[in-house]
Amino acid sequence: MSNFKFHGVDVTGLAHEYGTPLYVVSEDEIVRRIRAIKGCFDERNERCSTFFASKSFLTKDMLRILMREGLGLDVVSGGELFLAQEMRFPPEKIAFHGNSKTEREIAAGLDCGVGKFVCDSMDEIELIDRMAGERGANARVLIRVTPGVEAHTHKYMSTGETGSKFGLPPEMIKEVVSSRGTSAYLSNISLMGFHFHVGSQLMDNSTNLEALGVILGLIKELRDDYGFETRILDMGGGFGVRYTKKDNPQNIADFIGGMVDKVESFCRSYGLSCPSLVIEPGRWIVSDAGITLYSVGSVKRLPGGAVYVGVDGGYPDNPRPALYGAEYEAVLVNKVDLPPSETVSIAGKCCESGDILIRDIELPEAQRGDLIAVLGTGAYNHSMANNYNKNPIPAVVMVKDGTPRLSVRRQTYEEMFSGNI
Ligand SMILES: *Cc1c(COP(=O)(O)O)cnc(C)c1O
Repeated sequence: MSNFKFHGVDVTGLAHEYGTPLYVVSEDEIVRRIRAIKGCFDERNERCSTFFASKSFLTKDMLRILMREGLGLDVVSGGELFLAQEMRFPPEKIAFHGNSKTEREIAAGLDCGVGKFVCDSMDEIELIDRMAGERGANARVLIRVTPGVEAHTHKYMSTGETGSKFGLPPEMIKEVVSSRGTSAYLSNISLMGFHFHVGSQLMDNSTNLEALGVILGLIKELRDDYGFETRILDMGGGFGVRYTKKDNPQNIADFIGGMVDKVESFCRSYGLSCPSLVIEPGRWIVSDAGITLYSVGSVKRLPGGAVYVGVDGGYPDNPRPALYGAEYEAVLVNKVDLPPSETVSIAGKCCESGDILIRDIELPEAQRGDLIAVLGTGAYNHSMANNYNKNPIPAVVMVKDGTPRLSVRRQTYEEMFSGNI
């Protein structure tokens, strides 16, 4: 009987060597996907550039890959910026997002010279203006626009609807643009353009095209009424992936190509100079590149037929099922050749009823000591990992050309409590 292999590697050996739970990530797959995105965007013309949303997966190795492949980087916190600086990521290729940056975070961004801030409120724009002034600096800013469209995804992953906590509505943006240049107001800021991101895990670009309709209209109005030229338009990320058979994402070249076509034809029609374009994928680049290995602990078969296969991880290494009902596929690594024989739920080990990694999946009969691989965990698993129930954060093993290497060490109990006084 053969074992399940991940990008040429027998993961049973990895579980023995590094323990479980264990994140296994394919560097080859990440690079392949980065190049696929660049092929249909960056290489289309020199105005297009891709920024990786670091919140989806951020490690030193990931930053090394991004620097080698020449991508930009989105950060949303001082912590993400810190690691990027540690690794000497070129600051001019960093965009600092976030709807509630602290003064300390803004100071860090200004002091290292991030390429741009993406701002979400007037309050923050004024604060950045003042802090840039204190430093004799000029900050490049994009304003996030709330286009007032609803993405067809989980409500926790829809971000562009009217009244969202993200962004400013078009009428407020007109006010900002009209008040510029009238006095010293916002004189330490260069308003480069606009950003929108309508949601995550989007199956097609229909919501993005709808949002583009609103934003391109705004861009034209700003040019016509105030002579304002939009130099950068950041169209966000959110490109969906296939977690289970239910997901059927649009081909990435069509998804992205459709957006670029719309911008270019609009600009041509109205005599606007076409802004530089940015996209910010996270999930699409790393999701399929990762799996998580778990050891099976207790298997509980209840009267009435419910079967719970308990594993040695769950909510702490993957809160997504509890957070928004995220679904995954899994395989029994050491029984991958056997046909499924029962419907089970894979239960995490935390003291929360919601800590079920997968509900109702068909698997061969599982027993203590078997190994389970949950698939498609490369995005938002390691980055959302937490210490609930005081479980240490699992290690990350990277696989390249069929050779595994330790990329992030497993957290120790001592490290988990090291801040305690
Ligand atoms: C989360 C986020 C992204 C990336 O989303 P994915 O679904 O991982 O592609 C991009 N831009 C912004 C502003 C985000 O908040």
